[in-house]
Amino acid sequence: MPFGRRSAWREVGLGVFVRRYRDLDLNVGLIVGDGAAMLVDTRSTHPEAAELIREVAELTDLRPSVVVNTHAHFDHCFGNAVMLPCEIWGHEACAADLRSRGEEIRESAARWLTGAAARDVATVEIVPPDHLVRDHRAIHVGGRLVELRHLGRGHTDGDLVAIVPDARVVFAGDLVEQGAPPSFGDAYPLDWPATVRLLAPFASGAVVPGHGDVVDRAFIERQAAELAAVAATARAAHEQGMPEDEAARLVRLPREEAAIAVRRAYAQLGGAI
Ligand SMILES: [Zn+2]
Repeated sequence: MPFGRRSAWREVGLGVFVRRYRDLDLNVGLIVGDGAAMLVDTRSTHPEAAELIREVAELTDLRPSVVVNTHAHFDHCFGNAVMLPCEIWGHEACAADLRSRGEEIRESAARWLTGAAARDVATVEIVPPDHLVRDHRAIHVGGRLVELRHLGRGHTDGDLVAIVPDARVVFAGDLVEQGAPPSFGDAYPLDWPATVRLLAPFASGAVVPGHGDVVDRAFIERQAAELAAVAATARAAHEQGMPEDEAARLVRLPREEAAIAVRRAYAQLGGAI
């Protein structure tokens, strides 16, 4: 791979690292404590997760003993099996989703992945989190506090953020997206803006989105405003009885994502989700 295109760890807070992958522009987090390390998300396939473990060894002799999944999408949790016997933390709805529609999520992966990963995803053993969070849970990783918080529905109904207060780092999962529009396929567009606004007070330093470049509080406040505009447009259009395709043309998102956002917003307004 040409120089500059290889992924590498970046320290975004003391002992807190991010690795940004070319595939899907995905971010994975690593928190290194005294005698223990924790991963935030596990990539899409078993070989990718095994590679991640080798990459962790570039930084520390510790093998991660704790994993948190930010949500149930394949790129964030399909490497879980390789991490066992780790503790795997996630939101209750994330675990339920992986149990009830894991195969559907696997099928969605086939649409996104290319090359070896597209093949390897077929044989992933889907392992849901076994340490579950409803609202908030504080855990300790090698003496460091990590707060796991569910701030409401947004990108999915089971988004969990991981906050490392001593390093002022927030791992936001796909609640925050840099470099691409927010992804609405499993989203709750009417709730999403408020959820991101609740995240803002925790963002005193680096904010690591699920995909793209590391951002900050100002970025997430802008994203909350953009998400609020999507929700308001969809709500007004629904009130007027406007058809979905017409409403989608009013939403400031790329065409395909706008259609999905309006479909999900209308489903919320109609009480279907
Ligand atoms: Zn996602």
